[in-house]
Amino acid sequence: MEIFDLREFDGHEQISFGHDAPSHLRAIIAIHSSALGPAAGGCRMWPYARTADAVADVLRLSRGMSYKNAMAGLPLGGGKAVIIADSRTAKTPELFAAFGRCVDSLGGRYITAEDVGTTTADMAQVARVTRYVAGLGRAPGEAGGDPGPKTALGVFLGIKAAVRFRLGHSELAGIKVAVQGLGGVGYHLCALLAGEGAELTVADVRAAVVHKACDEFRARAVPAEDLIAAQVDVLAPCALGAGLNGTSIPRLRARIVAGAANNQLAEDEDGQRLAAAGILYAPDYVINAGGIVSVSREYQGGATEAQVIADIQGIPLRLTEIFERARRENRTTNAVADQMARELLAGRRQQRVA
Ligand code: NAD
Repeated sequence: MEIFDLREFDGHEQISFGHDAPSHLRAIIAIHSSALGPAAGGCRMWPYARTADAVADVLRLSRGMSYKNAMAGLPLGGGKAVIIADSRTAKTPELFAAFGRCVDSLGGRYITAEDVGTTTADMAQVARVTRYVAGLGRAPGEAGGDPGPKTALGVFLGIKAAVRFRLGHSELAGIKVAVQGLGGVGYHLCALLAGEGAELTVADVRAAVVHKACDEFRARAVPAEDLIAAQVDVLAPCALGAGLNGTSIPRLRARIVAGAANNQLAEDEDGQRLAAAGILYAPDYVINAGGIVSVSREYQGGATEAQVIADIQGIPLRLTEIFERARRENRTTNAVADQMARELLAGRRQQRVA
């Protein structure tokens, strides 16, 4: 496999492959940049069909973490890990201990946490063998724990900023929001939106969680494949990435796309397609930074949950700055955000060289 020639390769500093026969661990850890600090990003557990798919994913996700951490103003670089296995059947304490040893062997250059397919309990297993892990259980009032609810809070505040900018409403009452994916982030997001009077349309591939959301939030359910075309003000993708592409974008009826999923745009040009359709896009790695803000505070230690919540208030401000700059310069919001992130990373690299 020509890793250095892959489209997803972006000058990554280090890629390590971890294998442990007894526990059947196959893991890849990618450090994209440590310019701003130790590389931090979650561990995804996914049954990739081919190793090449896992490599491409970890390269893309780790670059996204560099941009996310830089834009959130965190003292962290960008990294990510993937474990090639099915999270529903392959989890054992031995597997996570073996993964923890891989993390530990990097001596603190990479800090892990949970991501799609892994949980707080899994990270507790990892923490038995390494201290380079966050997203663990915590005492009430302390920073940290499951990042999902903090990500949801950042997305909620980001949706409010986008609604204010694009629709001129400072309240969410009566605003129609479609939430795609009712997992760790999406479900919490629904609670926050419903609490402010937003009208919800929801979809998930798990029927039970859809029923629960309909009961609890008076949400309207639609089949998963129809959600993207729902007649709403805001589409909040909170399932998997790459949902916005040349085929799906013409079906959108929303005027705003603002959600938690990583890598929502299948390619950069999809940002242009959204803008051309008059749809305001909240760059994913800016709006979904609440979880890593929590992870960062937890890892540094000594912080309270109130401090994490205060930090997350920066997300709508950053988004509004991006929206305004994109309008002023007649550029897409994703291009503006990418440039801002790259400038932050390059600035620190130059400072180091000098
Ligand atoms: P999750 O796995 O808990 O939830 C995802 C949900 O999407 C599940 O309920 C799943 O059934 C559903 N889903 C899958 N395919 C779907 C489809 N086609 N249509 C509708 N629903 C579908 O994951 P999560 O932690 O809630 O994260 C959601 C997204 O946000 C992911 O892309 C993740 O990478 C991103 N993200 C999460 C965090 C975090 O703190 N958890 C932080 C940043 C970004």
